[in-house]
Amino acid sequence: MEKHPETGTQGMAGWQSAFDASVRIRSKFDIKRKRGEFIGAFAPYGYDKAPGNSDALIVDVEAAAVVRDIFAWYTDGHMSLGAVVRKLNALGVPNPTKYKNQKGLNLRNPHGNDGLWSASSVRRVLSNEVYLGHMVQGREKTVSYKAHKAMRVPRDDWFVVEGTHKAIVSGDTFEKARQILSRNVKTGASGGVYPLAGILKCGECGKAMSRKSSKGYTCYCCRTYREKGAQFCGPHTIREDVLFRAVLEAINLQTCRMEDARSLLRRVQSASEKPQVAPGFADKQALLEKELEGEAAVFDKAYYDFARGLISEAQFIRIREICEKRQSELSASKEMLSQEVKNTSKNTGVQYAGLMMFLKNKRFPVLTRKLALDFLGLVCVYADKSLEIRFRFAAPSAPPCSKHGECANQDNPRLSESRDGVKMKIVYAGEMSIDEALYRYFLKV
Ligand SMILES: [Zn+2]
Repeated sequence: MEKHPETGTQGMAGWQSAFDASVRIRSKFDIKRKRGEFIGAFAPYGYDKAPGNSDALIVDVEAAAVVRDIFAWYTDGHMSLGAVVRKLNALGVPNPTKYKNQKGLNLRNPHGNDGLWSASSVRRVLSNEVYLGHMVQGREKTVSYKAHKAMRVPRDDWFVVEGTHKAIVSGDTFEKARQILSRNVKTGASGGVYPLAGILKCGECGKAMSRKSSKGYTCYCCRTYREKGAQFCGPHTIREDVLFRAVLEAINLQTCRMEDARSLLRRVQSASEKPQVAPGFADKQALLEKELEGEAAVFDKAYYDFARGLISEAQFIRIREICEKRQSELSASKEMLSQEVKNTSKNTGVQYAGLMMFLKNKRFPVLTRKLALDFLGLVCVYADKSLEIRFRFAAPSAPPCSKHGECANQDNPRLSESRDGVKMKIVYAGEMSIDEALYRYFLKV
Protein backbone atom coordinates (compact mmCIF):
# COMPACT_ATOMS: atom_id res chain seq x y z
CA MET A 1 0.00 0.00 0.00
CA GLU A 2 1.25 3.39 -0.85
CA LYS A 3 2.03 5.68 2.02
CA HIS A 4 0.06 8.81 1.90
CA PRO A 5 1.52 12.17 3.02
CA GLU A 6 0.34 13.30 6.46
CA THR A 7 -2.18 15.65 4.91
CA GLY A 8 -3.98 12.62 3.58
CA THR A 9 -5.61 11.46 6.76
CA GLN A 10 -5.94 14.97 8.09
CA GLY A 11 -7.64 16.13 4.93
CA MET A 12 -9.96 13.20 5.18
CA ALA A 13 -10.78 13.96 8.81
CA GLY A 14 -11.26 17.63 7.97
CA TRP A 15 -13.59 16.74 5.15
CA GLN A 16 -15.48 14.37 7.45
CA SER A 17 -16.04 17.02 10.09
CA ALA A 18 -17.09 19.58 7.52
CA PHE A 19 -19.51 17.03 6.15
CA ASP A 20 -20.85 16.28 9.65
CA ALA A 21 -21.29 19.98 10.31
CA SER A 22 -23.12 20.46 7.06
CA VAL A 23 -25.42 17.51 7.81
CA ARG A 24 -26.03 18.93 11.30
CA ILE A 25 -26.87 22.35 9.88
CA ARG A 26 -29.04 20.89 7.17
CA SER A 27 -31.06 18.76 9.59
CA LYS A 28 -31.42 21.72 11.97
CA PHE A 29 -32.82 23.71 9.05
CA ASP A 30 -35.07 20.82 8.06
CA ILE A 31 -36.58 20.73 11.54
CA LYS A 32 -37.24 24.48 11.36
CA ARG A 33 -38.74 24.17 7.91
CA LYS A 34 -40.99 21.33 9.03
CA ARG A 35 -42.26 23.59 11.80
CA GLY A 36 -43.02 26.28 9.21
CA GLU A 37 -40.28 28.59 10.46
CA PHE A 38 -38.67 30.74 7.82
CA ILE A 39 -34.98 30.00 7.34
CA GLY A 40 -34.11 32.19 4.34
CA ALA A 41 -31.85 35.22 4.58
CA PHE A 42 -34.47 37.48 3.00
CA ALA A 43 -38.23 37.32 3.39
CA PRO A 44 -40.20 36.51 0.19
CA TYR A 45 -41.37 39.59 -1.73
CA GLY A 46 -44.48 40.98 -0.03
CA TYR A 47 -43.28 40.07 3.44
CA ASP A 48 -40.76 41.16 6.04
CA LYS A 49 -39.12 39.16 8.76
CA ALA A 50 -40.89 39.90 12.03
CA PRO A 51 -38.78 42.16 14.24
CA GLY A 52 -37.39 40.06 17.08
CA ASN A 53 -38.43 36.78 15.47
CA SER A 54 -36.67 36.20 12.18
CA ASP A 55 -38.45 32.83 11.77
CA ALA A 56 -41.82 34.51 11.28
CA LEU A 57 -43.13 36.62 8.41
CA ILE A 58 -45.16 39.83 8.60
CA VAL A 59 -46.79 41.67 5.71
CA ASP A 60 -44.78 44.37 3.96
CA VAL A 61 -47.70 46.65 3.09
CA GLU A 62 -46.05 48.36 0.13
CA ALA A 63 -44.88 45.19 -1.64
CA ALA A 64 -48.06 43.33 -0.65
CA ALA A 65 -50.08 45.98 -2.52
CA VAL A 66 -48.00 45.27 -5.63
CA VAL A 67 -48.56 41.52 -5.22
CA ARG A 68 -52.32 42.09 -4.96
CA ASP A 69 -52.27 44.34 -8.03
CA ILE A 70 -50.43 41.67 -10.03
CA PHE A 71 -53.04 39.05 -9.10
CA ALA A 72 -55.94 41.45 -9.80
CA TRP A 73 -54.61 42.55 -13.20
CA TYR A 74 -53.89 38.99 -14.23
CA THR A 75 -57.17 37.44 -13.05
CA ASP A 76 -59.99 40.01 -12.97
CA GLY A 77 -58.26 42.44 -15.33
CA HIS A 78 -57.63 39.69 -17.90
CA MET A 79 -54.21 41.08 -18.71
CA SER A 80 -51.60 38.80 -20.20
CA LEU A 81 -48.33 38.11 -18.38
CA GLY A 82 -46.54 40.45 -20.80
CA ALA A 83 -49.08 43.23 -20.26
CA VAL A 84 -48.64 42.94 -16.48
CA VAL A 85 -44.85 43.16 -16.92
CA ARG A 86 -45.17 46.26 -19.11
CA LYS A 87 -47.59 47.94 -16.70
CA LEU A 88 -45.33 47.35 -13.69
CA ASN A 89 -42.30 48.71 -15.52
CA ALA A 90 -44.25 51.67 -16.93
CA LEU A 91 -45.41 52.54 -13.42
CA GLY A 92 -41.79 52.40 -12.26
CA VAL A 93 -42.44 49.65 -9.71
CA PRO A 94 -39.04 48.20 -8.76
CA ASN A 95 -38.71 44.42 -9.14
CA PRO A 96 -38.32 42.34 -5.96
CA THR A 97 -34.50 42.43 -6.03
CA LYS A 98 -34.29 46.18 -6.55
CA TYR A 99 -37.01 46.75 -3.98
CA LYS A 100 -35.08 44.84 -1.35
CA ASN A 101 -31.90 46.69 -2.22
CA GLN A 102 -33.77 49.99 -1.88
CA LYS A 103 -34.87 48.88 1.57
CA GLY A 104 -31.25 48.48 2.48
CA LEU A 105 -31.06 44.71 2.24
CA ASN A 106 -27.93 43.70 0.45
CA LEU A 107 -29.45 41.09 -1.80
CA ARG A 108 -26.86 40.13 -4.33
CA ASN A 109 -27.85 38.57 -7.57
CA PRO A 110 -25.10 36.66 -9.33
CA HIS A 111 -26.68 37.39 -12.70
CA GLY A 112 -26.87 41.13 -12.18
CA ASN A 113 -30.19 42.91 -12.03
CA ASP A 114 -31.61 45.82 -13.99
CA GLY A 115 -34.48 46.41 -11.55
CA LEU A 116 -37.12 45.61 -14.16
CA TRP A 117 -39.89 43.06 -13.93
CA SER A 118 -39.86 40.13 -16.35
CA ALA A 119 -42.37 37.46 -17.29
CA SER A 120 -40.59 34.99 -15.04
CA SER A 121 -40.57 37.29 -12.00
CA VAL A 122 -44.31 37.96 -12.41
CA ARG A 123 -44.94 34.24 -12.91
CA ARG A 124 -43.01 33.51 -9.71
CA VAL A 125 -45.29 35.88 -7.79
CA LEU A 126 -48.44 34.37 -9.33
CA SER A 127 -47.42 30.84 -8.44
CA ASN A 128 -46.01 31.32 -4.93
CA GLU A 129 -48.24 29.81 -2.26
CA VAL A 130 -46.53 31.96 0.35
CA TYR A 131 -49.18 34.59 -0.53
CA LEU A 132 -51.90 32.22 0.73
CA GLY A 133 -50.32 32.33 4.18
CA HIS A 134 -48.52 29.02 3.71
CA MET A 135 -44.82 28.64 4.36
CA VAL A 136 -43.37 26.94 1.30
CA GLN A 137 -39.67 26.16 1.47
CA GLY A 138 -37.24 23.90 -0.30
CA ARG A 139 -38.60 24.46 -3.82
CA GLU A 140 -35.05 24.65 -5.10
CA LYS A 141 -31.88 22.96 -3.99
CA THR A 142 -28.44 24.44 -4.38
CA VAL A 143 -26.32 21.98 -6.31
CA SER A 144 -23.13 23.99 -6.33
CA TYR A 145 -22.58 26.94 -4.01
CA LYS A 146 -19.68 28.18 -6.10
CA ALA A 147 -21.58 28.19 -9.39
CA HIS A 148 -24.87 29.39 -7.82
CA LYS A 149 -26.56 26.50 -9.50
CA ALA A 150 -30.03 25.63 -8.27
CA MET A 151 -32.13 22.60 -9.11
CA ARG A 152 -35.89 22.26 -8.89
CA VAL A 153 -37.11 19.91 -6.18
CA PRO A 154 -40.19 17.72 -6.77
CA ARG A 155 -43.27 19.10 -5.07
CA ASP A 156 -43.59 16.14 -2.70
CA ASP A 157 -40.26 17.04 -1.13
CA TRP A 158 -41.10 20.68 -0.41
CA PHE A 159 -41.61 21.85 3.14
CA VAL A 160 -45.16 23.21 3.20
CA VAL A 161 -46.83 24.35 6.40
CA GLU A 162 -50.22 26.02 6.00
CA GLY A 163 -51.41 29.12 7.79
CA THR A 164 -48.10 30.26 9.26
CA HIS A 165 -48.58 33.93 8.44
CA LYS A 166 -51.06 36.43 7.04
CA ALA A 167 -52.29 35.73 3.51
CA ILE A 168 -52.02 38.48 0.89
CA VAL A 169 -54.39 36.99 -1.70
CA SER A 170 -57.53 34.87 -1.35
CA GLY A 171 -57.66 31.20 -2.24
CA ASP A 172 -60.14 31.94 -5.04
CA THR A 173 -57.88 34.52 -6.65
CA PHE A 174 -54.82 32.27 -6.37
CA GLU A 175 -56.69 29.35 -7.90
CA LYS A 176 -57.90 31.48 -10.78
CA ALA A 177 -54.37 32.70 -11.47
CA ARG A 178 -53.13 29.11 -11.36
CA GLN A 179 -55.74 28.05 -13.90
CA ILE A 180 -54.94 30.87 -16.29
CA LEU A 181 -51.19 30.23 -15.93
CA SER A 182 -51.65 26.56 -16.71
CA ARG A 183 -53.55 27.35 -19.89
CA ASN A 184 -50.40 28.27 -21.77
CA VAL A 185 -51.87 31.48 -23.06
CA LYS A 186 -50.85 33.00 -26.38
CA THR A 187 -51.09 36.74 -26.66
CA GLY A 188 -51.74 39.02 -29.57
CA ALA A 189 -49.47 41.81 -30.71
CA SER A 190 -51.55 44.37 -28.80
CA GLY A 191 -50.87 42.53 -25.54
CA GLY A 192 -54.49 41.44 -25.47
CA VAL A 193 -55.38 37.79 -25.14
CA TYR A 194 -57.54 36.07 -27.75
CA PRO A 195 -60.93 35.18 -26.28
CA LEU A 196 -60.39 31.42 -26.52
CA ALA A 197 -56.64 31.28 -25.87
CA GLY A 198 -55.86 28.25 -23.72
CA ILE A 199 -59.48 27.07 -23.92
CA LEU A 200 -59.53 25.91 -27.54
CA LYS A 201 -58.14 22.40 -28.14
CA CYS A 202 -58.00 19.87 -30.94
CA GLY A 203 -60.66 17.25 -30.23
CA GLU A 204 -58.50 14.46 -31.66
CA CYS A 205 -55.05 14.96 -30.12
CA GLY A 206 -55.89 17.40 -27.32
CA LYS A 207 -53.24 19.93 -28.37
CA ALA A 208 -53.93 23.64 -28.53
CA MET A 209 -55.12 25.04 -31.86
CA SER A 210 -52.81 27.59 -33.42
CA ARG A 211 -54.07 30.83 -34.90
CA LYS A 212 -53.11 31.82 -38.40
CA SER A 213 -54.17 34.59 -40.75
CA SER A 214 -54.05 34.36 -44.51
CA LYS A 215 -56.03 35.72 -47.47
CA GLY A 216 -58.03 38.00 -45.19
CA TYR A 217 -59.25 35.19 -42.93
CA THR A 218 -58.07 34.11 -39.54
CA CYS A 219 -58.26 30.40 -38.90
CA TYR A 220 -57.38 27.96 -36.15
CA CYS A 221 -55.77 24.63 -36.92
CA CYS A 222 -54.36 21.73 -34.90
CA ARG A 223 -50.84 22.45 -33.70
CA THR A 224 -49.79 18.81 -33.97
CA TYR A 225 -50.80 18.81 -37.64
CA ARG A 226 -49.01 22.07 -38.28
CA GLU A 227 -45.81 21.35 -36.42
CA LYS A 228 -45.43 17.58 -36.74
CA GLY A 229 -47.26 16.69 -39.93
CA ALA A 230 -50.39 15.09 -41.40
CA GLN A 231 -49.52 11.56 -40.20
CA PHE A 232 -50.00 12.64 -36.55
CA CYS A 233 -53.28 14.60 -36.69
CA GLY A 234 -55.67 16.27 -39.10
CA PRO A 235 -55.81 20.02 -39.77
CA HIS A 236 -59.24 20.57 -38.13
CA THR A 237 -59.19 24.05 -39.60
CA ILE A 238 -62.00 26.36 -38.54
CA ARG A 239 -62.50 30.02 -39.35
CA GLU A 240 -62.26 32.37 -36.37
CA ASP A 241 -65.46 34.27 -37.16
CA VAL A 242 -67.44 31.02 -37.59
CA LEU A 243 -65.96 29.60 -34.40
CA PHE A 244 -66.59 32.73 -32.31
CA ARG A 245 -70.17 33.03 -33.56
CA ALA A 246 -70.85 29.38 -32.68
CA VAL A 247 -69.34 29.66 -29.21
CA LEU A 248 -71.20 32.89 -28.49
CA GLU A 249 -74.44 31.27 -29.63
CA ALA A 250 -73.77 28.31 -27.38
CA ILE A 251 -73.24 30.68 -24.43
CA ASN A 252 -76.42 32.60 -25.26
CA LEU A 253 -78.37 29.34 -25.53
CA GLN A 254 -77.48 28.87 -21.86
CA THR A 255 -77.84 32.41 -20.55
CA CYS A 256 -81.32 32.88 -21.98
CA ARG A 257 -82.33 29.91 -19.81
CA MET A 258 -81.43 31.71 -16.58
CA GLU A 259 -84.03 31.44 -13.85
CA ASP A 260 -84.44 34.65 -11.93
CA ALA A 261 -83.51 37.92 -13.62
CA ARG A 262 -84.96 39.97 -10.79
CA SER A 263 -82.88 38.36 -8.14
CA LEU A 264 -79.75 38.72 -10.31
CA LEU A 265 -80.44 42.43 -10.69
CA ARG A 266 -81.11 42.82 -6.97
CA ARG A 267 -77.96 40.97 -5.98
CA VAL A 268 -75.70 42.93 -8.35
CA GLN A 269 -77.40 46.17 -7.29
CA SER A 270 -76.87 45.60 -3.59
CA ALA A 271 -73.30 44.48 -4.20
CA SER A 272 -72.44 47.58 -6.21
CA GLU A 273 -73.95 49.86 -3.58
CA LYS A 274 -71.25 48.70 -1.20
CA PRO A 275 -68.02 50.00 -2.73
CA GLN A 276 -65.84 47.72 -0.57
CA VAL A 277 -67.23 44.72 -2.45
CA ALA A 278 -65.08 45.74 -5.43
CA PRO A 279 -62.38 43.06 -5.88
CA GLY A 280 -59.56 43.16 -3.38
CA PHE A 281 -60.57 46.31 -1.54
CA ALA A 282 -62.25 44.62 1.41
CA ASP A 283 -59.18 42.43 1.88
CA LYS A 284 -56.83 45.37 1.58
CA GLN A 285 -58.80 47.45 4.04
CA ALA A 286 -59.07 44.66 6.61
CA LEU A 287 -55.37 43.96 6.23
CA LEU A 288 -54.41 47.58 6.84
CA GLU A 289 -56.67 47.74 9.90
CA LYS A 290 -55.03 44.63 11.29
CA GLU A 291 -51.56 45.97 10.57
CA LEU A 292 -52.40 49.20 12.37
CA GLU A 293 -53.71 47.25 15.35
CA GLY A 294 -50.54 45.17 15.27
CA GLU A 295 -48.34 48.27 15.36
CA ALA A 296 -50.36 49.65 18.26
CA ALA A 297 -49.92 46.36 20.10
CA VAL A 298 -46.16 46.39 19.49
CA PHE A 299 -46.00 49.91 20.88
CA ASP A 300 -48.13 49.01 23.92
CA LYS A 301 -45.93 46.04 24.68
CA ALA A 302 -42.77 48.13 24.32
CA TYR A 303 -44.20 50.73 26.65
CA TYR A 304 -45.11 48.06 29.18
CA ASP A 305 -41.66 46.50 28.95
CA PHE A 306 -40.04 49.90 29.36
CA ALA A 307 -42.22 50.77 32.35
CA ARG A 308 -41.23 47.49 34.01
CA GLY A 309 -37.58 48.07 33.28
CA LEU A 310 -37.32 45.16 30.85
CA ILE A 311 -35.92 47.33 28.05
CA SER A 312 -33.83 50.49 28.14
CA GLU A 313 -35.09 53.95 27.30
CA ALA A 314 -32.98 53.95 24.14
CA GLN A 315 -34.56 50.67 23.03
CA PHE A 316 -38.00 52.00 23.79
CA ILE A 317 -37.40 55.19 21.82
CA ARG A 318 -36.10 53.16 18.89
CA ILE A 319 -39.19 50.90 18.92
CA ARG A 320 -41.44 53.94 19.21
CA GLU A 321 -39.78 55.54 16.19
CA ILE A 322 -40.24 52.39 14.12
CA CYS A 323 -43.87 52.07 15.20
CA GLU A 324 -44.63 55.70 14.43
CA LYS A 325 -43.03 55.42 11.03
CA ARG A 326 -44.99 52.26 10.21
CA GLN A 327 -48.20 53.79 11.52
CA SER A 328 -47.86 56.88 9.37
CA GLU A 329 -47.08 54.70 6.34
CA LEU A 330 -50.11 52.54 7.05
CA SER A 331 -52.36 55.55 7.53
CA ALA A 332 -51.18 56.95 4.22
CA SER A 333 -51.94 53.62 2.52
CA LYS A 334 -55.38 53.63 4.12
CA GLU A 335 -56.04 57.13 2.83
CA MET A 336 -54.93 56.10 -0.68
CA LEU A 337 -57.14 53.04 -0.54
CA SER A 338 -60.27 54.93 0.45
CA GLN A 339 -59.58 57.33 -2.42
CA GLU A 340 -59.33 54.33 -4.73
CA VAL A 341 -62.60 52.93 -3.39
CA LYS A 342 -64.31 56.24 -4.13
CA ASN A 343 -63.03 56.18 -7.71
CA THR A 344 -64.11 52.58 -8.14
CA SER A 345 -67.62 53.07 -6.83
CA LYS A 346 -68.06 55.74 -9.48
CA ASN A 347 -67.33 53.08 -12.10
CA THR A 348 -69.94 50.59 -11.00
CA GLY A 349 -72.46 52.36 -13.24
CA VAL A 350 -70.66 51.03 -16.33
CA GLN A 351 -70.98 47.42 -15.20
CA TYR A 352 -74.56 48.12 -14.26
CA ALA A 353 -75.28 49.32 -17.80
CA GLY A 354 -73.85 46.05 -19.15
CA LEU A 355 -76.19 44.12 -16.89
CA MET A 356 -79.23 46.15 -17.96
CA MET A 357 -78.33 45.52 -21.58
CA PHE A 358 -77.91 41.81 -20.95
CA LEU A 359 -81.25 41.55 -19.17
CA LYS A 360 -83.15 42.90 -22.19
CA ASN A 361 -82.55 39.69 -24.15
CA LYS A 362 -80.52 37.62 -21.68
CA ARG A 363 -77.89 37.38 -24.37
CA PHE A 364 -74.38 38.72 -24.87
CA PRO A 365 -73.55 40.69 -28.02
CA VAL A 366 -69.91 39.66 -28.43
CA LEU A 367 -67.51 36.92 -27.29
CA THR A 368 -64.99 38.50 -24.93
CA ARG A 369 -62.05 37.01 -23.05
CA LYS A 370 -63.87 37.58 -19.76
CA LEU A 371 -66.98 35.82 -21.00
CA ALA A 372 -64.92 32.85 -22.21
CA LEU A 373 -62.85 32.58 -19.01
CA ASP A 374 -65.83 32.86 -16.69
CA PHE A 375 -68.15 30.48 -18.53
CA LEU A 376 -66.08 28.04 -20.58
CA GLY A 377 -63.88 25.20 -19.43
CA LEU A 378 -62.91 23.81 -22.82
CA VAL A 379 -63.83 24.04 -26.49
CA CYS A 380 -62.78 21.08 -28.66
CA VAL A 381 -62.76 21.11 -32.46
CA TYR A 382 -63.30 17.77 -34.23
CA ALA A 383 -62.37 16.68 -37.73
CA ASP A 384 -65.88 17.35 -39.07
CA LYS A 385 -65.60 20.90 -37.63
CA SER A 386 -68.12 20.02 -34.92
CA LEU A 387 -67.49 21.48 -31.48
CA GLU A 388 -67.67 20.14 -27.98
CA ILE A 389 -68.28 23.03 -25.60
CA ARG A 390 -67.70 22.47 -21.92
CA PHE A 391 -69.32 24.95 -19.54
CA ARG A 392 -68.15 25.68 -16.03
CA PHE A 393 -71.68 25.58 -14.61
CA ALA A 394 -74.43 22.97 -14.25
CA ALA A 395 -77.16 22.36 -16.84
CA PRO A 396 -79.82 25.09 -16.61
CA SER A 397 -83.03 23.65 -15.21
CA ALA A 398 -85.27 25.89 -17.31
CA PRO A 399 -86.31 24.48 -20.73
CA PRO A 400 -84.72 25.91 -23.90
CA CYS A 401 -85.97 29.38 -24.63
CA SER A 402 -88.61 29.66 -27.34
CA LYS A 403 -88.36 33.43 -27.77
CA HIS A 404 -85.34 33.38 -30.05
CA GLY A 405 -85.60 31.60 -33.36
CA GLU A 406 -81.99 30.49 -33.33
CA CYS A 407 -82.19 29.02 -29.84
CA ALA A 408 -82.36 25.79 -31.73
CA ASN A 409 -82.88 22.18 -30.81
CA GLN A 410 -85.87 22.17 -28.47
CA ASP A 411 -85.75 18.37 -28.26
CA ASN A 412 -82.15 18.02 -27.19
CA PRO A 413 -80.59 21.27 -26.00
CA ARG A 414 -77.25 19.50 -25.61
CA LEU A 415 -76.99 19.06 -29.37
CA SER A 416 -77.40 22.29 -31.28
CA GLU A 417 -76.29 23.82 -34.52
CA SER A 418 -75.00 27.34 -35.07
CA ARG A 419 -76.34 29.63 -37.77
CA ASP A 420 -73.25 28.78 -39.81
CA GLY A 421 -74.10 25.08 -39.53
CA VAL A 422 -71.49 24.16 -36.91
CA LYS A 423 -72.66 21.20 -34.83
CA MET A 424 -72.22 21.80 -31.12
CA LYS A 425 -72.26 19.28 -28.32
CA ILE A 426 -72.83 20.93 -24.94
CA VAL A 427 -71.29 19.52 -21.76
CA TYR A 428 -71.94 20.89 -18.28
CA ALA A 429 -68.91 20.44 -16.08
CA GLY A 430 -69.65 22.56 -13.03
CA GLU A 431 -71.69 22.72 -9.88
CA MET A 432 -72.94 26.30 -9.82
CA SER A 433 -76.17 27.37 -11.46
CA ILE A 434 -76.26 29.57 -14.54
CA ASP A 435 -77.73 32.35 -12.37
CA GLU A 436 -74.77 32.13 -9.99
CA ALA A 437 -72.30 32.15 -12.90
CA LEU A 438 -73.98 35.28 -14.26
CA TYR A 439 -73.94 36.96 -10.86
CA ARG A 440 -70.20 36.32 -10.53
CA TYR A 441 -69.66 37.55 -14.07
CA PHE A 442 -71.41 40.87 -13.46
CA LEU A 443 -69.96 41.35 -10.00
CA LYS A 444 -66.41 41.69 -11.24
CA VAL A 445 -65.65 44.24 -13.88
ZN1 LIG B 1 -54.93 17.45 -33.35
